[in-house]
Amino acid sequence: MTLFQIPGMLVDGEWLPTGEKGTAEVTAPYDGSVVARVPASGTRDVERAVSAARQALERDDFPRVDRIRVLEQTAAALNDRREHFARAIAYESAKPMKTARGEATRAVETFAFAAAEARRLAGEVVPMDATPAGAGKVGFTLRVPVGVVAAISPFNFPLNLVAHKVAPALAAGCPVVLKPASQTPVSALLLAELLDGLGVPRGWLNVITGSGSTVGDALVTHDDVAYVTFTGSAEVGWSLAAKAPRKKVRLELGSNSPLIIEADGDWARAAEKVPVAGFSHAGQSCISTQRVYVHEDVADDFTEALVGRVEALTLGDPMDEKTDVSSLISEEDTTRVAEWIDEAVSAGAKVLCGGAVTADGVLRPTVVEGAPATVRLQREEIFGPVVTLTRYEAFDEALSMANDSRYGLQAGVFTSDLGKALQAARALRFGGVLINEVPTARLDQQPYGGVRDSGNTREGPAYAIQEMTEIRLVSLEP
Ligand code: NAP
Repeated sequence: MTLFQIPGMLVDGEWLPTGEKGTAEVTAPYDGSVVARVPASGTRDVERAVSAARQALERDDFPRVDRIRVLEQTAAALNDRREHFARAIAYESAKPMKTARGEATRAVETFAFAAAEARRLAGEVVPMDATPAGAGKVGFTLRVPVGVVAAISPFNFPLNLVAHKVAPALAAGCPVVLKPASQTPVSALLLAELLDGLGVPRGWLNVITGSGSTVGDALVTHDDVAYVTFTGSAEVGWSLAAKAPRKKVRLELGSNSPLIIEADGDWARAAEKVPVAGFSHAGQSCISTQRVYVHEDVADDFTEALVGRVEALTLGDPMDEKTDVSSLISEEDTTRVAEWIDEAVSAGAKVLCGGAVTADGVLRPTVVEGAPATVRLQREEIFGPVVTLTRYEAFDEALSMANDSRYGLQAGVFTSDLGKALQAARALRFGGVLINEVPTARLDQQPYGGVRDSGNTREGPAYAIQEMTEIRLVSLEP
């Protein structure tokens, strides 16, 4: 008996209980309980799903007015079932219930924004007669769907990051083939059941479950896939882009987000926010607050306040209402992060709290001070419950340390000086610069994405829909 009963994977409007490779168990990272049994697909399943999506595109049988209705009703139905979805998220990803509820609420908003954008998506008038050659011509543009969208999603936001792909694709009029992360397919399949029940015509939403390394290539390189939206690690993401150079391969990847706390900034507010921003879902967020640069003048006060709050976090079972931090997605990740902490300590860093693993396998929230810029805790994406503290004297120095990264998703700065805020906005080479906010803050309607190794696109329904449609010029001459 599994915790969730899943009818299978959705291909061409049919629920298939098994894939080419049979079925696979989804187990809870915290205690190994069996969450669900899902199909394990292979390349023939990819072929069927893409073919179903291509035929849906050709049939063109999901008009905009129906797509808007489905998106709006999905938002409402998700809202009614937030608790059910939060439980699925918590079981399959070990995201504590209080955080999982937040994700479910955000997915409601993502669908609502996509529906609103679907209502207003329009081309524009082109002033053809502004040159002599255009005299007498009338020109306008249409926004046409780019074609079949392949969506590949990661484990850490198993519902809302699926929503950020499926909702804009449907709004744009693109059929989708979704492959959720193998560790966390349950939320995605429950969402697909909901959309299917609301009348999405067959072929417009296909969900295949299976290992990325088995089905990923077949999906991304398929001739009938026009657009790939991938969220996950930089290594996999950039390798997919290299395999499909003629396609639009849009990447949302990792980061090691910096936060600067100036002496004139509200360090006490920062100390309240970092325990959530650095340790929520045990640091497994692409914009988890990781590298904190704090001005010498406020460093002692800030550090004391931060460490006190981090030590007070409640660890344990994600299903327990009190839990703030639970286990990482796998034991290998726990071992990896512990090794990175040891490496920093060997290089001279000091562990101010945490560092050890509890009896039930949870890595204690860890604050490390004085890690050299060369160690992995500073250079790589930790994706674990660790925040590094580095003291500085000059604002320019902090800006340059924050920029010293191959990643560039979001950065945060606490300052009460408008001049410094604007200086930071110009100097920090990131997809987003957040003033008096941690870099971990994301609103679902904002343009969200990174530069450098962090990716090459912006999500948020309005922006994703632009990416998933193409401009077609229409020129009329009487
Ligand atoms: P991952 O290992 O890269 O996996 C992401 C997805 O890619 C999964 O569905 C995975 O399938 C699939 N995949 C793996 N190998 C593949 C291949 N060769 N071809 C095609 N697909 C393949 O990442 P993750 O561990 O799930 O997620 C963590 C990463 O995502 C972190 O780096 C994090 O920063 C990033 N992230 C970025 C954002 C953002 O918006 N920028 C948001 C959230 C997370 P399997 O599960 O079957 O392996």
